[in-house]
Amino acid sequence: MSEKKTVIVAGAGFGGLEAVKKLMKDKRLEIIWIDRNNHHLFQPLLYQIASAVLSPADIAIPARSITRNRSNVTVIMDEITGIDKKNREVILGDRKLRYDYLILALGARTGYFGNDKWRQHTSGLKSLTDALQIRRRLLLSFEEAENDPADADRLLNYVIVGGGPTGVEMAGSFAELSHRIIRNDFRNVDTSKAKITLIEAGSDLLPTFDRTLSVYTKLALEKRGVNVMLNTRVKDITGHTLLLKTLEGDKSITANIIIWAAGVEAVPITTQLDEKLDRQKRILVNDNCSLDDHPEIFVVGDIAAFRDESGKFLPGVGPVAMQQGRHSARQIRRDLSGKPRERFRYFDKGNMATIGRKDAVAEFMGYKMKGFLGWLAWLVVHLFYQVGFKNKLNILLTWIWSYFTFGAGARVITDPIPYKESDGTSQK
Ligand SMILES: Cc1cc2nc3c(=O)[nH]c(=O)nc-3n(C[C@H](O)[C@H](O)[C@H](O)COP(=O)(O)OP(=O)(O)OC[C@H]3O[C@@H](n4cnc5c(N)ncnc54)[C@H](O)[C@@H]3O)c2cc1C
Repeated sequence: MSEKKTVIVAGAGFGGLEAVKKLMKDKRLEIIWIDRNNHHLFQPLLYQIASAVLSPADIAIPARSITRNRSNVTVIMDEITGIDKKNREVILGDRKLRYDYLILALGARTGYFGNDKWRQHTSGLKSLTDALQIRRRLLLSFEEAENDPADADRLLNYVIVGGGPTGVEMAGSFAELSHRIIRNDFRNVDTSKAKITLIEAGSDLLPTFDRTLSVYTKLALEKRGVNVMLNTRVKDITGHTLLLKTLEGDKSITANIIIWAAGVEAVPITTQLDEKLDRQKRILVNDNCSLDDHPEIFVVGDIAAFRDESGKFLPGVGPVAMQQGRHSARQIRRDLSGKPRERFRYFDKGNMATIGRKDAVAEFMGYKMKGFLGWLAWLVVHLFYQVGFKNKLNILLTWIWSYFTFGAGARVITDPIPYKESDGTSQK
């Protein structure tokens, strides 16, 4: 029997997980699965960690537990610092691992359109650390306002930049938490007076959705007490102050917490690979998701710039990463069976975003849903895509509990005052 081929899968996100699931059944392969974290994370529910509904372990699952019964898969928790394409090696600090095939699925990070100095004044939402940092700052702001009600207007003032699904979901959940869920918990401060502002540069929220759903979302958020500012572009951020360009001219506003949900860019490693990149620093790939000059390297998900048949780049969403992860795994198996590679074709399953309790918008193949129906669809889809029965059950029980009790289950501040900066991305 011929020697086994080594496939390195870099990244345990949606793309990497799907690739590993497809490859690990193949006895011709030895798989090395690398991530800087020890878990796969379901990023679409990160905002529920930030707003104290769910706990971290509800939306993450250790990579090792997924592959524990597959002796041909080795999981490594480490930081990938480089790729040596010529020698076919992945570099982890001072150790190197050789591969026959590499699937790069390293994802994206919060992007600031070249204004990286804004990173220190804002909180992005890309990892569990980010989400826990936001949760902590949010919960502390309520405690500080309770201790010093005269300063409540300044403390309970939050700005979210970016009117895509993440911004909308954050704004809706902040409003729900402060205006409803915790308002009876405090004696000296009225948390229902918290000011939540959502800023969007374009003329609509959820710009990739059907316009009727965008309009509905704006009205629904306003009904929940969110101040929505459209056609408003951030020009600068210093400390707690945002300088904004609006249709009426420049103005500045302040906020105790500024959440940046306005964009992402590929992880920095893409700039070291000597490959063509798009504006979000994603690697341009060919029609089977690999590199023309290195067909043994596949690039999938948020780190890849893939043009569909109409010439448009595919968006950075979970289903693209999952389908490309599976596709790359299939191409490797086809190579080994002497079959030609196939073109990747994306099956678009639609968009959805939740606005709050009993309210969401969704569109699938021309069908549009909003309100309670949209919310039910959102619940079912988000439960279905969770990895692991325990997580599905925990989330379902927490949601049922919150639905009937108006409770938010994860309101424990684990790192109390004084506040320590952990990764330089947070605000003082
Ligand atoms: C807050 C939020 C909400 C979202 N909501 C939705 C939604 O509702 N619907 C939807 O379809 N999509 C949503 N997305 C987008 C979706 O999560 C991404 O498109 C998807 O995760 C991309 O998968 P990926 O495998 O390319 O990257 P990721 O899932 O980001 O995985 C990348 C992995 O690589 C690891 N990694 C990165 N660099 C290194 C390194 N140097 N060394 C080792 N490991 C490394 C990371 O730790 C991570 O585990 C959301 C994203 C966010 C952040």
